[in-house]
Amino acid sequence: MAERISTPSRTKQIIEENSFYFKKNFGQNFLIDSNILDNIAQCAGVTKEDCVLEIGPGIGSLTQVLAETAREVVAVEIDNTLIPILNQTLNGYDNVEILNQDILKTDIDTIIEKKNGGKPIKVVANLPYYITTPIIMDLLEKERHIDTITVMVQKEVAERMQASPKEKEYGALSIAVQYYCDAQLDMIVQPSCFMPRPKVASAVITLKVLTERKVRTKDESLFFHLVKCAFGQRRKTLLNSLNNQGELNLSKEDLTSLIISLGWDERIRGEALSIHEFAALTDAIYDKQHQ
Ligand code: SAM
Repeated sequence: MAERISTPSRTKQIIEENSFYFKKNFGQNFLIDSNILDNIAQCAGVTKEDCVLEIGPGIGSLTQVLAETAREVVAVEIDNTLIPILNQTLNGYDNVEILNQDILKTDIDTIIEKKNGGKPIKVVANLPYYITTPIIMDLLEKERHIDTITVMVQKEVAERMQASPKEKEYGALSIAVQYYCDAQLDMIVQPSCFMPRPKVASAVITLKVLTERKVRTKDESLFFHLVKCAFGQRRKTLLNSLNNQGELNLSKEDLTSLIISLGWDERIRGEALSIHEFAALTDAIYDKQHQ
C-alpha cells in the first residue's frame, strides 16, 4: 500500500499545505486511524469485483483504502475546496472518479447503471452526521440497486437503526432500516480517531439490503405514512395521531374499532408497534378504505 493519507501527521501536512479549514456545516471529521479504515473496508466485504460509492471522501483517507480493495470507486464530495486536494492525494489511482456534488442531488441510479451495468453496488462512507438520516432514507426508500451500506454514524444513530418497539431509540428510522435490511453493528469508534474530534462516540454499521421485504403490506406508501404519523407525534396515542390525518378519510369511530379489531388497547401508542403490527394496521386501514 502507498503511504497512508490517514496518519495524523500526513493528514495535518495535507491540511496545512493546502490551507484547508474544516467546515462544521459539512460535518467534516476526518478519520486519522488507519486500522479503523482497514476494518471498515473489511466489514463492507469489499473485493476486486466491487464497485463502491463513497459519500464524502474528505481528503481521501477512506477512498485510498477502497481504491486498493475495490475494482472501482465513485466518491461524491460537496466541498469544492476538497476537489483539488483529492486530485492530488489520489493521483495514481486510476479506478477512482470524484464528483463534486451534493449526494442528495446526485443521480445514484445512473452511476450504478454506468459503472456497474445496473448490478448492485456497495456504499461505504464516514457519513457527514448532519444528514445521516436523509442519506440513509434516500438509499433505502428509492429501492436503488445496492448490496450493502457500511457507514460510520453517531453511535446513537446506530442504536436507533437497531432499536426495538418501546425502546427510547425506536422510531421511523428503525422501521425503515429493519424493513429493508438486516443490520449489524461492526464497531464502536472513539472521538480520538478523528480530526477534529467529534463530541460524541461513533459506530460503524453494515446494512445488508434484502431482496425480499421482511413483511408484506397491501400498500407500502401507506405503511410508511402511518409510521411517520405515529412517530411524528410520539406522545400521542396511535388513535389521536391517526385521527389528525384527514388524508386517511376515516372517522375516529372507524379508527377506534379498527384498533380494537386488531386486538390492541385503544390507548396504545405507535411506539409500541412492531414492523409486523404496522403492516397489519396498514392492511386493516387499506381494507376499510377500499370497502
Ligand atoms: N471520508 C472522509 C474521512 O473519513 O476522513 C471524510 C468524512 S467527513 C465525516 C464527511 C464528508 O462528507 C466531508 O468531506 C464533507 O465535506 C462531505 N459532505 C458533507 N455533506 C455532503 C453532501 N451533501 N454530499 C456529499 N458530501 C458531503
